[in-house]
Amino acid sequence: MIEFGMPKTLAVKLTAAGERAVKQNHPWIYENSIEKISADGQVGDKAIIFDKKKNRFLGIGLYDPYSPIRIKLLIPREKAQLDEAWFFGKLRSCFEQRSPLFEITNAYRLVYGESDGLPGFIVDVYNDTAVIKLYSLIWMPYLDSIKKGLVDLLNPRAIVLRLSRHVTQLLEGHPIMDQGPIIHGELSNPVVTFQEYNVQFSAHLLAGHKTGYFLDHRQNRHLVGKQSKNKSVLDVFSYAGGFSVHALTHGAKHVVSVDISKHALELAKQNAALNGIFKQHETRAGDAFVLLEEANRKGEKFDVIIVDPPSFAKSKGEIPTAIKQYRRLTKLVLPLLDRGGLLCLASCSSRISKEDFFDSVEAELKASKRSFTLLEKTYHDIDHPVSFPEGAYLKTGYYQF
Ligand code: SAH
Repeated sequence: MIEFGMPKTLAVKLTAAGERAVKQNHPWIYENSIEKISADGQVGDKAIIFDKKKNRFLGIGLYDPYSPIRIKLLIPREKAQLDEAWFFGKLRSCFEQRSPLFEITNAYRLVYGESDGLPGFIVDVYNDTAVIKLYSLIWMPYLDSIKKGLVDLLNPRAIVLRLSRHVTQLLEGHPIMDQGPIIHGELSNPVVTFQEYNVQFSAHLLAGHKTGYFLDHRQNRHLVGKQSKNKSVLDVFSYAGGFSVHALTHGAKHVVSVDISKHALELAKQNAALNGIFKQHETRAGDAFVLLEEANRKGEKFDVIIVDPPSFAKSKGEIPTAIKQYRRLTKLVLPLLDRGGLLCLASCSSRISKEDFFDSVEAELKASKRSFTLLEKTYHDIDHPVSFPEGAYLKTGYYQF
């Protein structure tokens, strides 16, 4: 069984390639970049990295024997004490960076893993509740200090702990799993309501995707909403209706939400209802590719279309197929877009570069021979900062026909 004891300190030396990565501020050190290590590492041990030639301090990370990314580097590199004061300071500085958002929402990503210097560690805040999501076991020995830091900073009604599939598998049968997901306070109802601009939403913090909702598209939803007054809107891959409900509250005359999950569409309906909207909202459950073909056969037309699919490329090998799928979707929605319509195309695959994504979908737009202008491209909002190449995933293009 995995033991979470008092973390030890390890002294580590890396290969030349490993040292280069650290100097370039890349947060990941792979197993094969480790040349020397002072002791057998346990999960969560502090790994202090020294340079080979002069034995100078290069950085500090946490040791993860259960991942090929064997050491995950922390920021700030110096003085990472990993005690309560250190975590509080980290969380507070993340909080301060997000402060411009507090006027428009009470739901935001407080900590975004590597890019905030805490690899594999996410905290999303929904109104008065915080959800921690761990993608690596390295944080388990520090959970009490993290919890204390969050309570001191936010005084939340409850803190929920969610684990990635990888972490859940590693902890199967471990007594730590018996404590349940609420690690602080009380959450009698796991459905928590929050506000995004002037729109009300709710999310199931124990069962919803990721931590309950996709906070990353906040600014895109607002942009689409503003363009939707008196328009007919098609929201493909709607999940809980993020885009749909923004459009509805901005006075769209008809919104169709498409998702393969009936449950997601139920959530979308509930979110529309939260804003007092029942009538103008239609949901269609099924495979988007099939439903779009059907809409084409019927000759349907929409003024605004959003396409925000799940990540199509989970591995490098899937990149070519993913690009084909983006192109296929673009081709399928184009005939559905009315003259003068607005098309919003998004990708959340970190393996697909923004260049590859925009080049491929724009090739389809051009092939249609319809005239359009690129209005805008958006990337990450301030609560999803990007500090290394693999941290960038979200890109959205707006095309006015
Ligand atoms: N646009 C949403 C997030 C989309 S997440 C928002 O703003 O919050 C991706 C969604 O795609 C999920 O809800 C998932 O159920 C759905 N999905 C996955 N594969 C699908 C398919 N083949 N057809 C339709 N929906 C699909």
